[in-house]
Amino acid sequence: MVRRIQHFIDGQHQAGTSGRSSDVYDPATGQIQAQVDLASVAEVHGAVSAAHKASEEWSESSLTQRTQIMFRFRELLSDRTDELARVISSEHGKVVSDAAGEVARGLENVEFACGIAHHLKGEINEQVSAGIEVYSLRQPLGVVAGITPFNFPAMVPAWMFATAIACGNAFICKPSERDPSASMLIAEWFIEAGLPPGVFSVVNGDKEAVDALIDHEDVAAISFVGSTPIASYVYERATSAGKRVQALGGAKNHMLVLPDADIEMAADAAVSAAYGSAGERCMAVSALVAVGSAADELVEAISQRIPDVKVGVGTEAGAEMGPLITAEHRDRVAGYVERAQQAGAVAVVDGGNADLPTDGFFYGPTLLDEVTADMECYQDEIFGPVLSVLRVETFQEAMDLINANPFGNGTAIFTRDGGAARQFQHEVQVGMVGINVPIPVPVAYHSFGGWKASLFGDTHMYGPEGVRFYTRAKAITARWPDPASSQIDLGFPQNS
Ligand code: NAD
Repeated sequence: MVRRIQHFIDGQHQAGTSGRSSDVYDPATGQIQAQVDLASVAEVHGAVSAAHKASEEWSESSLTQRTQIMFRFRELLSDRTDELARVISSEHGKVVSDAAGEVARGLENVEFACGIAHHLKGEINEQVSAGIEVYSLRQPLGVVAGITPFNFPAMVPAWMFATAIACGNAFICKPSERDPSASMLIAEWFIEAGLPPGVFSVVNGDKEAVDALIDHEDVAAISFVGSTPIASYVYERATSAGKRVQALGGAKNHMLVLPDADIEMAADAAVSAAYGSAGERCMAVSALVAVGSAADELVEAISQRIPDVKVGVGTEAGAEMGPLITAEHRDRVAGYVERAQQAGAVAVVDGGNADLPTDGFFYGPTLLDEVTADMECYQDEIFGPVLSVLRVETFQEAMDLINANPFGNGTAIFTRDGGAARQFQHEVQVGMVGINVPIPVPVAYHSFGGWKASLFGDTHMYGPEGVRFYTRAKAITARWPDPASSQIDLGFPQNS
């Protein structure tokens, strides 16, 4: 019988009652390995009700208690990185070392949350007027929900839950129905770390569960990470429902290479950033913008490296790139590559021709040259191992191209010219910028977020902005007067 993945509500596994479920594949073999229950509106309401009850006590827990639990959870997650990485690899397909890297980056968010007492320090002004102080506090929101994508089943939830919980909220995770098991393990480990039942829950599901979370009046805030159309939809619906929302969307990340760059280093970076995790990263480089003479050298250097990329089953020793998430997605990627060639792009390497296992959802690293801005393969987020090379003559032409793109998640420049790098960082309309760094995902004590169609909402995720998102400010004006100076004054309060 196929394994069944349930929900995790009020501290325990709960079988779904909706009668609906979704297949969870092993992308390396193409076989169905489990079925995940899809929650009904009533089941979501049950989870919110348990979370709401838990949040009342949790919001009153001391900072010491929250910190100690977070430290214990950090130890469990650190000790069990390999176990979690293998679970991620089996459902997502990415290689185990890459999955372990994702867990390590998620762990950084937990470590940030271990310092929550420091991050929640308020501010105070003494003597704003005679005998009067003003100080600010940050208090939790109550129940908050996170809706997460398939491509980082541990790290993206960690961007949200670590800060949300440490700030005193109850957190409900609605993971991707394609790889839900990482969230379920995390929920179990939180209980083991001493987190009270109901403070971290997992509701598995699809649109029905997402809509029910958004519409529920006891859910105060929604964090979303996924594709741009759904991010936009979630943002509209949740803000209309009066909620605080941060909705991170898709991307088209450009890597700009100037002729003075170290071409060998740039080629290594391009191969790593384009084909790591089979290109299923929101910070993957998918557009290589080569200025002048950099283009020929780069295309040559990258095409030489591609045959050495070891594509294989994620658990195989030495494998560097696994399969795509579904057969449907692999076929979608293949369609883009085919139509790009029909539109005039040159397939220097076509991953569709690679000698790969036929059982799973594999597609090999692909390099498209002579791509232009009007082509579909440039305009759409392909989310696969496809790198498009766009040739331009000048730095300014490259800047104009990047800034005209509707997405603004990540970008990178490769150069030895400090002035060009400085101009790039200043003028580029993108939220996260790398200088000779291809995947500039900020560390946990900064915040993560794109611009334009890559982010709906005002607050970036995790780090200091995460603390602000998951708390609301209260300003207190206080006087402990000398009774001798008390008097009646009907005028508007003024400071003296
Ligand atoms: P997706 O948008 O299909 O799904 C994301 C979440 O939304 C899932 O939990 C899914 O169940 C839910 N969902 C799907 N359709 C829905 C609908 N119609 N109504 C309500 N909810 C719905 O994204 P995905 O395919 O899981 O992930 C890949 C996408 O995520 C890519 O576009 C990638 O760029 C993006 N992403 C962005 C970031 C970022 O930080 N900006 C990070 C990771 C992934």
